[in-house]
Amino acid sequence: MSNVVSLHDKTFDLYIHQKDIVETIASLAHRIAADYAGKRPLFLSVLNGSFMFTADLLRHYTGECEVSFVKLASYEGTATTGTIKELIGLNENIKGRHVIVLEDIVDTGNTIDALFAALAIHEPASVKVATLLYKPEAYEKAHPIDYTAITIPNKFVVGFGLDYDGLGRNLPNIYQLIQ
Ligand code: 5GP
Repeated sequence: MSNVVSLHDKTFDLYIHQKDIVETIASLAHRIAADYAGKRPLFLSVLNGSFMFTADLLRHYTGECEVSFVKLASYEGTATTGTIKELIGLNENIKGRHVIVLEDIVDTGNTIDALFAALAIHEPASVKVATLLYKPEAYEKAHPIDYTAITIPNKFVVGFGLDYDGLGRNLPNIYQLIQ
């Protein structure tokens, strides 16, 4: 497979190989399983971007667990409220549950912040986040990112579930935008 891919008008270079991604996710899964020993966490996978991360993390998670899928829909609010993010697809009763949110990437933290607020209403026992990718240079929020598979600089990436305008989610490796 070529090291360079073109999506729409942009070109991306191979950044992290699938083998390294999956190894890192496997060790993260073992870490989480050790932390949640004796508990039955509910993994909440945030679509669309986290489907590959979710599959690989759960494949390597050895403890008892459940998984469900949610989506954050953005719509324009009033001039004062700006963009509003609504949580859709939460069918489980999460009251008293140990929830682990699975994200593809944490950038500014706006998405994860909106999720924490939306989940808190349902009174879970605890909420933590596990993300495939984390950009600490871009992160603007106070909440700690509990579990990170891979920390990256503030550059745009695609592949392994992440898209550029709808394309690239199927790429097995992670690619970085060539400036
Ligand atoms: P945040 O709300 O933390 O700023 O951004 C989270 C969302 O922005 C992600 O779920 C993703 O959709 C998008 N995003 C941020 N950085 C990247 C990136 O480097 N590549 C892609 N494909 N999406 C990104």
